[in-house]
Amino acid sequence: MVLWMKRRLRVQEIRELTDLTYVLRFDRADIHFSPGQYVTVGIKGAPEAREYSIYSSPQDPYLEILVKEVKNGRVSHDLHLLKTGAELTVEGPSGTFLDEADAGLSSTRPRLFVATGTGISPFRSFARTFADRPFQLVHGVRYENERYDHSEFPSGSVTSCVTRPGSQNGAVFAGRVTDYLRSHPVTPDSQCYLCGSTAMIYETIPILRSHGVADSRMFAEIYF
Ligand SMILES: Cc1cc2nc3c(=O)[nH]c(=O)nc-3n(C[C@H](O)[C@H](O)[C@H](O)COP(=O)(O)OP(=O)(O)OC[C@H]3O[C@@H](n4cnc5c(N)ncnc54)[C@H](O)[C@@H]3O)c2cc1C
Repeated sequence: MVLWMKRRLRVQEIRELTDLTYVLRFDRADIHFSPGQYVTVGIKGAPEAREYSIYSSPQDPYLEILVKEVKNGRVSHDLHLLKTGAELTVEGPSGTFLDEADAGLSSTRPRLFVATGTGISPFRSFARTFADRPFQLVHGVRYENERYDHSEFPSGSVTSCVTRPGSQNGAVFAGRVTDYLRSHPVTPDSQCYLCGSTAMIYETIPILRSHGVADSRMFAEIYF
């Protein structure tokens, strides 16, 4: 029998990426996970906890999550205020998103990752873990400074879709991920993984279908 275990783990550091988005690093203890899984994190003594995809790799000696403070959100705001050494409650890991054994992925099939905002998190874990597994990531954000840690991804693997781009950055696609996917071909036998808002995922699925991708090759992790 597997017990649903709640661990108490200490914060190691908070790395600020924008005013509202941060990487929370904490002790890993005995947690074993695969890229794509999430943990449920709260503050010790607080009544609420929330799910967060794991941003770090199983090869890292710590755990990281990428969090954006949500307007009027309780947990995403309170986690941001923590100091090194503060205690978290952490449950999991859970989930099977990006589980390539489950997906029956053959090594020759192209991988397409589609993310909005902090939905890039499981894909960063994947990229950090499997240097030998190619993919194309289409990442949608509002502003250019939300291209979280893009410099860590293999060269040429990420397309940034920015809805409010700065004045002259030709390196980004100006628009939403769905605009990009409508106007660019997708190989029909791609294995497609979508992560982020319900709205993005529901809009993306018919676009992928229109490119000939079968539903059985689409996998989604919905954040809200
Ligand atoms: C499997 C899973 C993995 C997740 N991974 C991540 C992750 O890696 N990083 C991350 O930042 N979040 C992630 N989330 C979302 C996260 O669990 C929380 O919902 C989010 O942090 C808001 O919690 P809160 O307590 O601050 O806000 P709440 O008090 O729960 O919500 C306040 C309001 O904001 C809305 N809301 C919730 N999330 C968002 C959002 N992202 N954008 C806009 N509005 C929102 C809610 O619908 C609600 O109306 C994940 C969710 C799931 C289910």
